[in-house]
Amino acid sequence: MKQTKAYSAASATTPLAATTIPRRAATERDVAIEILFCGVCHSDLHTVRDEWHSIMPTVYPCVPGHEIVGRVTQVGKGVTGFKTGDLVGVGCMVDSDHDCPSCKANVEQFCPSAVFTYNGPDKHGTAPVTYGGYSESIVVDERFCLKVPTNLDLAGVAPLLCAGITTWSPIRRWGDIKGKKVGVVGLGGLGHMGSNLPTPSAPTLRSSPPLRGKKTMPCASALML
Ligand SMILES: [Zn+2]
Ligand SMILES: [Zn+2]
Repeated sequence: MKQTKAYSAASATTPLAATTIPRRAATERDVAIEILFCGVCHSDLHTVRDEWHSIMPTVYPCVPGHEIVGRVTQVGKGVTGFKTGDLVGVGCMVDSDHDCPSCKANVEQFCPSAVFTYNGPDKHGTAPVTYGGYSESIVVDERFCLKVPTNLDLAGVAPLLCAGITTWSPIRRWGDIKGKKVGVVGLGGLGHMGSNLPTPSAPTLRSSPPLRGKKTMPCASALML
């Protein structure tokens, strides 16, 4: 087990502060990553403030961050998709049971045993819960790593790991959208991301004042067709 620098919140009312956290040694299926950039998602703030207590209470200390871009520093013996030096991304999940109907359908986000990148149960026992990307390194099962092309602005890639996939997903789900209009409802963080995605038509932008001030799940989709 190694220690790595991180920013954590000690309680719902204290600011993030520099600390050190444990990271497991890479097991057979793991990829160890030096984190280069991590986006700030509004979910990070909700979790740090324990504002989702009723559905997923925050365990402290809390190290948020699930828009991670980094460089592979080590791979386990059984890793086949990555090698040292690769640029990779990690989003909001780091594990699942790999066995349920959702996992078998490649929609692990619906897995009843999905492990989120932070504040999720740590199956490896490294810490009480998983710790996220506000840190210098992370160790992740290769099945939850993505390859990042080397020609991209890495700081710009980070938000794609949550806000980007959240808004891109409905477009992919609808398949061929040629000739259709893309509507973005709500021009906050996700709406801004959605309005910048490459689509066959210019997005129709619409702000949504009735939603302002209401407690919504910011990672929920803000884009629809
Ligand atoms: Zn997010
Ligand atoms: Zn599953």
